[in-house]
Amino acid sequence: MASDVRDPFAAPGHDHAGCVMAALDAAEARCARAGQRLTPLRRRVLELVWRGHDPVGAYDILELMRDERGRIAPPTVYRALDFLCRQGLVHRLESLQAFIGCGQAGDHGTDHGTDHGIGHHAAHFLICQDCGEAVEIRDGQLDGAISQLAGRAGFAIANETIELSGRCAACQS
Ligand SMILES: [Zn+2]
Ligand SMILES: [Zn+2]
Ligand SMILES: [Zn+2]
Repeated sequence: MASDVRDPFAAPGHDHAGCVMAALDAAEARCARAGQRLTPLRRRVLELVWRGHDPVGAYDILELMRDERGRIAPPTVYRALDFLCRQGLVHRLESLQAFIGCGQAGDHGTDHGTDHGIGHHAAHFLICQDCGEAVEIRDGQLDGAISQLAGRAGFAIANETIELSGRCAACQS
């Protein structure tokens, strides 16, 4: 869709239940391929990360889990988030110290963009400071430019997450 290319931010009032379903289905498939278990707890944490398109802090997830399940030790939630990051299902945004679901976990298996290791892929984010939404973008030219830059420097990239903050089109109007 041309409109998606112009404004990749999620339209207000879109079918978000569909986003969550797609993310959970992709997660089940990816874990099955990797021989990993998406336990009910990991699945629920992923679902909570996907409660919206704005990044969420680990502590907020912990609070939501406690509302549902009562006492739950912080490391339980942190380990689940760590697992989800390692599987490439969730990204950690360093600038916000928060987590966001990978919108591309289901695309072409693991074959999307530059892959620097199991479950990890180059991730470039546009983060709106007003509405808080973060969008993962894929751009072949940007991937190519970064690969060339690293190549010229003889630099081996281990983690490629780029975070651009600003205001989305909707928040500017
Ligand atoms: Zn959505
Ligand atoms: Zn991603
Ligand atoms: Zn915005």
